[in-house]
Amino acid sequence: MYMPSPFRKKARYCSNSSCRSWHGRRITDAVSDSKGNVKGYVQNPDCPTEYYPNGKLNVAKAVGKTGILNVMRDYGGGEPYVGQVQLISGEIAEDITNYYATSEQIPTVCALGVLLDKEDHQVLLSGGLLIQLLPGATDETIDKIEQNVTELEPMTTMLAKGMSMEEICQTALKGFEVEFLDETEIKYACSCSREKIIDAFVTLSDDEIRSLADEKGYAEAICHFCKKKHRFSKLQLEQIIKQKHETAEEEPTADTKQDAENT
Ligand SMILES: [Zn+2]
Repeated sequence: MYMPSPFRKKARYCSNSSCRSWHGRRITDAVSDSKGNVKGYVQNPDCPTEYYPNGKLNVAKAVGKTGILNVMRDYGGGEPYVGQVQLISGEIAEDITNYYATSEQIPTVCALGVLLDKEDHQVLLSGGLLIQLLPGATDETIDKIEQNVTELEPMTTMLAKGMSMEEICQTALKGFEVEFLDETEIKYACSCSREKIIDAFVTLSDDEIRSLADEKGYAEAICHFCKKKHRFSKLQLEQIIKQKHETAEEEPTADTKQDAENT
């Protein structure tokens, strides 16, 4: 995916971005970081695949036309940035464009495409384009980009033709001098780990941790993004409880510090 420089600049310092849309009880989550790691979660993956009469995939049918798009950007320090807008169409590119216009007041062109094999519904190719205007862009620049966008073929057509990301950028920005500043490989990657699950376990009481073990004597945490199963035996759960108490003794809480000062 190509990111124009203003967005890219933000993304460079951004440790984590996530988009969540929900429509009724259907939640769709997408998380990415500045290293190009991307993961996604769809609460209801068994929805039927439908197409518009022109053959385009009907994404809105799966996402839902009413709901909320919630965007969170964590730059790794302080409070994360959170923006929220109502879905306007359920077509992801239109909702992202609307999000930038409404929540961040950045005029944006977003084009996305995914081509499915109509037999087995496997993704054959996918890609996207995002163009954002810098403050102070002239009317002439806006007109030129609007003209280019009108003439732009659908993303899937350009990708199916074998056009590279550079060629797609040059086409979308015809008439402008294009400078390529950086390139990042995008890949599916999940950041779940045993350590993160242990961090979640230690927020529970001892009895709650013990009760996580099933009748076979194992606690199993399944990552809802990558579906990886993280298993803990009863003995490992006891070790987590022991470790929790040892850490608590090493790091007195505000309350215990206060008690120590009062005695
Ligand atoms: Zn995972």
